[in-house]
Amino acid sequence: MTNLLPEMAEIWQQTLNWQPTVQQQEQFQRLYELILEGNRQLNLTRITDPQEFWEKHLWDSLRGIVPLLSANLSSAPPALIDIGTGAGFPGVPVTIAVPNCTITLVDSTRKKITFLDNILTELALTNAKTLVDRAEEIGQHPRHRLAYDIALIRAVGPASVCAEYTLPLLKQRGLAIIYRGNWTEDETTTLQNAVKLLGGKIELIEQFTTPLSHSIRHCVYLRKIATTPIQFPRPIGVPTQKPL
Ligand code: SAH
Repeated sequence: MTNLLPEMAEIWQQTLNWQPTVQQQEQFQRLYELILEGNRQLNLTRITDPQEFWEKHLWDSLRGIVPLLSANLSSAPPALIDIGTGAGFPGVPVTIAVPNCTITLVDSTRKKITFLDNILTELALTNAKTLVDRAEEIGQHPRHRLAYDIALIRAVGPASVCAEYTLPLLKQRGLAIIYRGNWTEDETTTLQNAVKLLGGKIELIEQFTTPLSHSIRHCVYLRKIATTPIQFPRPIGVPTQKPL
């Protein structure tokens, strides 16, 4: 395998105040190799260049969870869920970087989850499990509704759809982290309406630039502050067809 990921120790340190251990760096490298391999059969990602993979998949995944990287989690390991994880982003880098958390990786496409099962085995990641299901279904399931401290969601749909997928899954005071590229004031207005209906509030909208290509990215943090009414999430397909 000639594709070697850059280490970027200084950039990790400067931007996230964190650095991967030798073992975590090896897991990132192996993840990259497995995704390149998987790409030959499954359409997993168009990002294959090592620098771009480091920035858009590894760095971007961890940028959203900075507070978790520095937190002392030994007493209360948080329960995370990644909705629409696809080839495992942001969930797998988070699983590697925060070994103290437990994380559920959810996608509606079985073949992506089968691929992820293999990744978890190959990387010896025991703190993650996978689930083939839809956000609309698990949001109404007693095992998952109100069960998570943090819900991650990247590139799954408009922010109000992401809010309807994630907020029902959170415990009271739980946090949803929506990973976005561009962001507009109009989106804030629409999202504000949606989160009000769902029992949440917009806690923070953070803009940042990625460290290599200097692209603009956003993370939207939603806090659950009230009970989500039982009609949410609505049945399969409704959140995207009639976004709040
Ligand atoms: N989060 C990944 C993948 C984004 S592509 C990344 O950022 O790279 C969107 C993924 O969400 C697809 O894999 C799709 O199967 C999944 N998805 C879309 N709607 C979903 C839903 N309602 N429930 C669960 N998964 C969904």
